[in-house]
Amino acid sequence: MTASTRPDLDSIPAYVPGRNHPGAVKLASNETTFGPLPTAAKAIAEAAEQANRYPDNQALELRAALADFLGVTQENVAVGCGSVALCQELVQITCDASTDEVLFAWRSFEAYPIVTKVGNATAVQVPLTAAHVHDLDAMAAAVTERTKLIFVCNPNNPSGTAVGKAELIRFLDAVPERVLIVLDEAYFEYMRLAEENYPDGVELGRTRPNVVVLRTFSKAYGLAGLRVGYAVGDPAVITALMKVHIPFSVNRVAQAAAIASLESRHELLDRTHTLVLERDRVRDALLAAGYAVPPSETNFIWLPLGERSAEFGEASAEAGVLVRPYGADGVRVTTGDPHENDLFLSFATDPAVRERFSI
Ligand SMILES: *Cc1c(COP(=O)(O)O)cnc(C)c1O
Repeated sequence: MTASTRPDLDSIPAYVPGRNHPGAVKLASNETTFGPLPTAAKAIAEAAEQANRYPDNQALELRAALADFLGVTQENVAVGCGSVALCQELVQITCDASTDEVLFAWRSFEAYPIVTKVGNATAVQVPLTAAHVHDLDAMAAAVTERTKLIFVCNPNNPSGTAVGKAELIRFLDAVPERVLIVLDEAYFEYMRLAEENYPDGVELGRTRPNVVVLRTFSKAYGLAGLRVGYAVGDPAVITALMKVHIPFSVNRVAQAAAIASLESRHELLDRTHTLVLERDRVRDALLAAGYAVPPSETNFIWLPLGERSAEFGEASAEAGVLVRPYGADGVRVTTGDPHENDLFLSFATDPAVRERFSI
């Protein structure tokens, strides 16, 4: 007889590994295509030599470096085993009853419904607008006395769209201060909104203790395989996060690589300029071929193909490019190197493909 586990976990789908397509180009996980910078590679090798020693559980050096970079104090910064671990920890510090509600847009980051269920709380999902943007007015209206946590993924994964500063401020002001609002800025470094409308969560959070910002080293900083992200917020929220943190889960190698990457950030952020141009080139080519593609402020684009999504993903894989279909909503395509993007474009703009998918 198998031991009993929580029956409510049955509603969480078991992990199903993606089909293997040997030699295919992978534009499915929003990774960067470059390996770590030489300075980061050196820090990684040096830290690995001390693998017999536990890492600093408080990540003091990394938190100090982040505090310095962001213009906050170390007490305002927590780190996690990827920002996805911080998402789960944020549910843990806010929800303690199954009737507690976690509010987020849908479709948005696929981890939100999972971490909500793992935390035994109730997910409340508010549809994106027809333009695939967060419907912040509807989200504010969906807040109840049971709402404990709100995730705003800005820019949004997988639709790529961002909400601007004025809209975001209006939302933050409309939500009661007892509700913790998470601004998940995993793609912050790829945003190119006008300066006066730039929604920088760290700035907006300075005067709002119920706002916490998540950023990550996995995307623009290119360290997805090492698992390190961070939260910036009020010291009380940070202290609570550190209480539920799985001990030593941000390992020594990850901490060293993050510090080195932060020091070399100008080189890393320069790469985002090239990527943004490439992203816009891909979007323009798809628009010209007749696809609907919402404007992207990330390192991917969104094709709202509805019921055709799964079949489109399968056909793209057969053509040698792995993309990410999401149910009956759409397909997310990461921006890779120009030759990888060209391979995807030659598939997607092929007249036979366009005819098959009624583009
Ligand atoms: C990729 C991503 C993250 C975090 O990734 P980690 O690798 O866990 O840091 C968080 N939020 C969103 C919306 C993402 O797309």
